[in-house]
Amino acid sequence: MPRQTLARIHLDNLRHNFRLAGDRAGSARAMAVVKADGYGHGLERVARALSEDTGHYAVACLEEAVAIRQAGLTHPVLLMQGVHQASDLPLCAAEGFTVVVHHKHQLEWLESGNARPQVWLKVNSGMNRLGFAPGEVRAVCRRLVKAGIAVTGAMTHFACADDETSQRTKEQTLVFDEATASLAPIERSVANSAAHFRPGQSMFDWTRPGVMLYGSSPMLGHHGPELGLRAVMTLESRLIAVRQLAPGEAVGYGEAWRCARPTLMGMVCIGYGDGYPRHARSGTPVGIRGTRAPLIGRVSMDMLAVDLTGVENAAVGDPVELWGRTIPVDEVAACAGTISYELLTGVTHRVPRVEV
Ligand code: PLP
Repeated sequence: MPRQTLARIHLDNLRHNFRLAGDRAGSARAMAVVKADGYGHGLERVARALSEDTGHYAVACLEEAVAIRQAGLTHPVLLMQGVHQASDLPLCAAEGFTVVVHHKHQLEWLESGNARPQVWLKVNSGMNRLGFAPGEVRAVCRRLVKAGIAVTGAMTHFACADDETSQRTKEQTLVFDEATASLAPIERSVANSAAHFRPGQSMFDWTRPGVMLYGSSPMLGHHGPELGLRAVMTLESRLIAVRQLAPGEAVGYGEAWRCARPTLMGMVCIGYGDGYPRHARSGTPVGIRGTRAPLIGRVSMDMLAVDLTGVENAAVGDPVELWGRTIPVDEVAACAGTISYELLTGVTHRVPRVEV
């Protein structure tokens, strides 16, 4: 008998969100970022569902690119961290993966080896995570061309695009534009999801939306639906116990929550062992019978407690929505002091994904 704790994956909503990204990308094209198991939704499932909408995928590492081919998809794939060892380059060339080169050791591997994959250059426009300094870019490009490598693109990544008040995105865009303008004709890419919502943002040739495809807001202080996005994952469970507690009684580990009044308490069959955040604070909403009920006490590995006092006729077996259609994952993330990315990618293998 299954536990009835599951993640429903709404593929129509995924396609809706991708179309929205495409609209917001203007004359640029959007490539679907499907790394980290499609942000927890299932990489192959997500890649297949978008195969007619997108002309390109972006992943973090080679294993993810290979999974796209194993799903039978022949689209171009961008490996955003490039390769981690020289011996991976022949496979990239054979499979038609585009390899990002962000560091001189990767440049040397390409120069000294025989594999000739297509390459995109990563420019460090200020985030200081990966990439060549703007002043190095032309020389790196010359070395690759001399080695017989086709440099077909350049990209950078934004540090603060989610913050509407920050000027850093504008500055990084300018730095990138100046560093790469003379490399034409190559394809250029800067925009993550948040950049799609920044008025006046240059989009160049390709955008790289990730989290917005899954229905979550990339902008600080907003929820996905406010931006026209639709939740792709609905995380669901059931009430497995209902109990009346008297004032003064406590709930769960550490007796971290104590009843101030008579309280109808329900136990929901999901916990941090399923990826529900242990640090979600008391008051984090869950959805039961069309009502928002607050989480109470500490989240356990396999269950959590909610206050059912405001829920009419709550009973064992009732479905509970942890996030999704009525409870934005962005709201749960804020209640847990984290971001939706961590919640979505953190849903564990114990939770079956069910396509809708
Ligand atoms: N591009 C790069 C290089 C990334 O690392 C990521 C995600 O971390 C993305 C694009 C997509 O970002 P987002 O999910 O915020 O749209």
